[in-house]
Parts: sequence; structure tokens; C-alpha cells
Amino acid sequence: MSFPSSVDVAIIGAGAAGLGAAHALKDSGLSVIVLEARDRAGGRGHTMMAAPGITFDVGCGWLHSADENSFVKVARQLNFEIDKTRPPWREQSFDTGFPLTERLDFIRALDAFYDRAEEAAKSGRDSAASLYLEPGNRWNPMIDAISTYVNGCELDRVSILDMDAYEDTGINWRVRRGYGALMAAYGALCPLALNTQVTLIDHSGKRVRIETSQGTLTAGKVIVSVPTNLIADQSIRFHPALPAKVEAARGLPLGLADKVMLALDDPESLPKDGNLRGATMRTEMGSFHLRPFGKPCIEGFFGGRFAQQLEHAGDGALAAEAIDEIVALLGSDFRHKLKPLAESRWAHDPFARGSYSHALPGHAGMRAVLAAPVDGRLFFAGEATSPNFFSTAHGARDSGERAARELIAASSNP
Ligand SMILES: Cc1cc2nc3c(=O)[nH]c(=O)nc-3n(C[C@H](O)[C@H](O)[C@H](O)COP(=O)(O)OP(=O)(O)OC[C@H]3O[C@@H](n4cnc5c(N)ncnc54)[C@H](O)[C@@H]3O)c2cc1C
Repeated sequence: MSFPSSVDVAIIGAGAAGLGAAHALKDSGLSVIVLEARDRAGGRGHTMMAAPGITFDVGCGWLHSADENSFVKVARQLNFEIDKTRPPWREQSFDTGFPLTERLDFIRALDAFYDRAEEAAKSGRDSAASLYLEPGNRWNPMIDAISTYVNGCELDRVSILDMDAYEDTGINWRVRRGYGALMAAYGALCPLALNTQVTLIDHSGKRVRIETSQGTLTAGKVIVSVPTNLIADQSIRFHPALPAKVEAARGLPLGLADKVMLALDDPESLPKDGNLRGATMRTEMGSFHLRPFGKPCIEGFFGGRFAQQLEHAGDGALAAEAIDEIVALLGSDFRHKLKPLAESRWAHDPFARGSYSHALPGHAGMRAVLAAPVDGRLFFAGEATSPNFFSTAHGARDSGERAARELIAASSNP
């Protein structure tokens, strides 16, 4: 689409949120452009072909809360097959290093931790989730490891009120061709300006002036859907400044989760959709999905400070760690059966700077602050603004729809 000089609505960011907003504005009669810094739509949803026949969702992969997930309907409309195989997260293939009795003991400890945190949240007072670990419980490091996958950070940085607000129906499905591929198809139906990085949103005048790497345009209204870390670092600036938004974004930083894809020789030696935890008595470990969709590969997942360390160690560090952990569990034969294909580096991604948001202790209320419109002209979307489905792709999409509804209401009551 050619770059316009003037539109009714500019949406900043073509991730799930921005695309959700664009779709919701389709029949509004308003002229719309989605300004996207990358050369593709989807943002933190991105599917690549890691090898022939092996799709790799570098970002989101699971349709969480699938029975309430609005992307399920989108997938059906766009003819993307959904796979309902249950996730193997609570299993350990071959019982290797983590037999069933130990797993049940761990799950009891994990559930008891969540119960204590939920009980504490009833007081309405916020605190760090780590306070609700049972002192001396041998499973604490592993409970913290789960937090690094779920929240992208350890429990000392997680607000219990925010944790309590998260909704999870426990149903998790996948998109066979990739969640990112679904988002790209969803985005292909939107008016996009790619390779267009927004640097300044000047809302001091009658119309909003937007400075971008492709030039300047004006808009009547703007929906901002960029990740919180970019607002917090002011890599996208507002004039006049919006200190309440910057503060809110700082309370909702993106934690880190990174994935690695390994090719697997002799795939029949491992079960389809199996699972391995790299270790059980420490927080610094990966979680490995064996042969997702039955394909000859293993997908590894690392989170929190350990993922930070691995990213900072440079390209290939995630794969090397994944292979070491798998070999330690399955034996040295596996070293020559595994080959690195691809890995993510979300902390180093200039347009994400992390993976998904969590509220710092004391900052659970910031999601509503970040979501609130400014002067009936600036609207805010993105996963971090979702009250209950934050950190997810469907939460992001729904937030875009919510921002679009607010914008339409403001347009009819100027
Ligand atoms: C490793 C990983 C695993 C995940 N797993 C899951 C999962 O299984 N299920 C799930 O539901 N969610 C998962 N998520 C989270 C999910 O991907 C995100 O919550 C969701 O995609 C965020 O959408 P968004 O629109 O809010 O933000 P984004 O997707 O980040 O979109 C924002 C867009 O703004 C653009 N942008 C940034 N700055 C500018 C600028 N200055 N100018 C113009 N454009 C700009 C970005 O390029 C981006 O395209 C995962 C994420 C990661 C990283």
C-alpha cells in the first residue's frame, strides 16, 4: 500500500493487537493505515521454516485457553487446521530423571504454591509471588523455573494480584501450519505500511502528527500497540510527553522466553509429542517438546535470567545448552543425532526487547493505566493492556478490538 500523508486512523504495530484493531475498523468507514517497523506482520507471532517440513513458531505457538481464544475463529475462517493434541508439559518421557512419584510430588507442591498465592491475593494487597514459596521446599527451584516459562521471569519479579487476574481455561491447542503463519495471513487482509518505524507521536496540534522512517503523516486518531519495553525506554516518543504511560509500561516489563529448534536423526527413538525437563532441582534448565506434530525435531524452551544469560552468550548458546541437557538425560548417542536449526533472540529484537509482559509486585493496576485512552485521540492496545489474557496472542488481538471500539465510540461522541 502506498504511504498516505493523512488518514483517519493510524495503528502503530502490526502484531496481533494492531491487526485485531485493523480488522475491527474495517467496516467503520474510517481510512486506516497500520504502521509496522518490521518487513512483516505478526510481531511476536512469527513462523519460519527451520528445515523442509519443519515449521518453527519462533514466538507464540499455543492457542492458550483455546475454548475462549478468538484466534480459533480466525483460524477456522482462514482454513488453518487446528491440532488438539494435549500439551505434554506435565509429562517426562521414559520417566528419565523424573519418575512419576516425583512428578506427582512436584505437582502437589506447585498446586499448593498457587493456592497460597491465590489466598494471599484475596486481601487485595500486592506482593512478590516468591513470598508464597514454602521455605525449604525442595521443589522451589523448579517452581521458579515454571515461572520463567509462564511469566518470562522468576517469582521475585511477579505480582500476585496480576498472577491471580490471569485467566487460563487449561485447554491448549496448536495451529498446524504455525501460529505466526496464521497471523501473517490475518495481516495480509489489512492496510499495512511495512518497514515504517514510528519515532514520534506529536499530539499537540489539531491532528496527530506521526514521524516515521518513511516520512511524516497526520491522523485524526491513533492506536498504539507496541510492546511495553519500547514505551518504557521511550524509543517511541510522545509530544507532549505521557509520563503516566511510561511509568505504567515500566511496571509491566517484558520478561524473556527463548526457543530453539533442533533436527533429530532417528526420530523413532523418541515418542511423538513427548516431553523432557532438562533437570529437576534447579531453575536454570530447559523444557523440551519432543517431536512436535510427530516431526523429526525437538523444540526447546528457556526462560528468565537463564535465557538472558544464554542470549548474551551469543548465537548458538541456546542450542548448545539444549543439546547438553538432552544428552545428559538420554545418553551420549544423542549428541550426533541432534543438529541446531534455529533459535530466537527476543531480548535482542529491537522491536520487541523481550517476550511477554508481567506486572512487577505493586504494579498490577498498571494494565488499566496503560490501556486508558488519552484525550479521545490516542488509544492503547497490546497484550500488556489485556486485563485477564495478558502475555498472550489472543489477549493482544482482543485488546486491539477493544481499542477500536473505544475509538469508534469517541468518533461518534466527539
Ligand atoms: C518465545 C515466545 C513464546 C510465546 N508463546 C506464546 C504462546 O504459546 N501463546 C500465546 O498466546 N502467546 C505466546 N507468546 C506471546 C505472544 O506472542 C504475544 O503476547 C503477542 O504476540 C503480542 O502481540 P502484540 O500485538 O501485543 O505485540 P507485538 O506482537 O510485539 O506487536 C507489536 C508490533 O509493533 C511493532 N513495532 C514496535 N515498535 C515499533 C515502532 N516504533 N514503529 C512501528 N512498529 C513498531 C513490532 O515490530 C510489532 O510488530 C509468546 C511470545 C514469545 C516471544
